[in-house]
Amino acid sequence: MQTPALPEKIKPWRIAAENGCLNGKLALATLPRLTAAVDRADGIVAIALTAGIDGQGIRFIKGVLRAEVALTCQRCLGLLSWPLEVAVSLGLARDEANIARLPDEYEPLLIAEGGSLAVADLVEDELLLALPQIPRHDDLRECAALGEVRSGEPALDAERRQPLAALASLLQDSKRSH
Ligand SMILES: [Zn+2]
Repeated sequence: MQTPALPEKIKPWRIAAENGCLNGKLALATLPRLTAAVDRADGIVAIALTAGIDGQGIRFIKGVLRAEVALTCQRCLGLLSWPLEVAVSLGLARDEANIARLPDEYEPLLIAEGGSLAVADLVEDELLLALPQIPRHDDLRECAALGEVRSGEPALDAERRQPLAALASLLQDSKRSH
């Protein structure tokens, strides 16, 4: 049996009513906001989502997205490979009042009942939300190892010293003027 291709757009309310699912892959390069936010995004995102109506009558889209991107470590400025495994739990809401009634387990997806949504946008939003604020290597030793490599780059050291050198010459100038 062939898996149906990932649709470009979905109607969330309809897919929930039909207990539909979204399975497939998207190239990260096709997600411009994500590629702008990370250092490298040349892989794919694997999408495994199901839609339905829960016991409380909430229409939902749930599942998991998996991808890997590269970020800059904020401690050593080295490249950091960052796996993303995003648990998705969206509750459909048609208005603000609907959002207020959603149980905590759901993140609201505000959309009109007949409205449609690009799958790429939905996936991209979820991936962006999952990016770390301050990415760092888990282990300080990984930073140190990269730091050794980077210390061979004179440009970086010069940049770091410059502000202090500028400050020193300012101080000297102010001494001289007295
Ligand atoms: Zn690091």
